[in-house]
Amino acid sequence: MFFITILVKLFEIAFFSEKTPVSSEKNLPERILYKEFNYGDYKTVKLLHTSTGEVEELPLDIYLYGVVSGEMPVTFEIEALKAQAIVARTYTIYQMMNNTKHKDIGADICDSSLCCQAWISKENRMARWDENLREENWIKIENSVNSTIGKVILYEGQPIRAFFHSNSGGMTESSKYVWGGDFSYLQAVETSGEDAYSSYKSEVTISKDELVVKMKEKYSDFDIDFSKDDWIKILENTETSRKS
Ligand SMILES: [Zn+2]
Repeated sequence: MFFITILVKLFEIAFFSEKTPVSSEKNLPERILYKEFNYGDYKTVKLLHTSTGEVEELPLDIYLYGVVSGEMPVTFEIEALKAQAIVARTYTIYQMMNNTKHKDIGADICDSSLCCQAWISKENRMARWDENLREENWIKIENSVNSTIGKVILYEGQPIRAFFHSNSGGMTESSKYVWGGDFSYLQAVETSGEDAYSSYKSEVTISKDELVVKMKEKYSDFDIDFSKDDWIKILENTETSRKS
């Protein structure tokens, strides 16, 4: 099962917080200086193709076909695909409104899941499906987007930062421990039922030598004495028992 967990509750809009700091969630004064959000202003996406550096203009929902088919297996339930379409649309519009990462080259968003969100062309997507399933699969993708046209997730009239994941191991993590931004609608919540997902648990075994190599790649002055029991220990847990 695929889970998208969005906890929407009162929070501080990050992109205005520098100008109008808010001391607490309950104290929501006249700081509401939000940019006007008009869905109609965000109908064309300037997509950066990371492999070529080319920037392509696409109608928002046509662009989303490539995102949904790049981010989620088409075999998932149509309702999951629709949820993915709404979250991806919200994420895209948020990036168009706020992200300056690719603005210098005139793009709103790129096609890399490591940077923005995945996107794959119809041609490339179709080529990876069995020939006899291509047509019906693509219709399913189009339906997930077309049946949700106009739907975005808003908080106080503005698109949220709609991050998504495939599995959180039973509980999401607060955004402040992941990216450092503390959004009230990106707090840790339980996501029961995820244990039915095939990638719910994973285990990795590496040798001591491999551990040293990997750690040195990131921390060149890394040093460890395996003869001492207390050289590997948990120093701190987040509120969801994740180790930091
Ligand atoms: Zn990007």
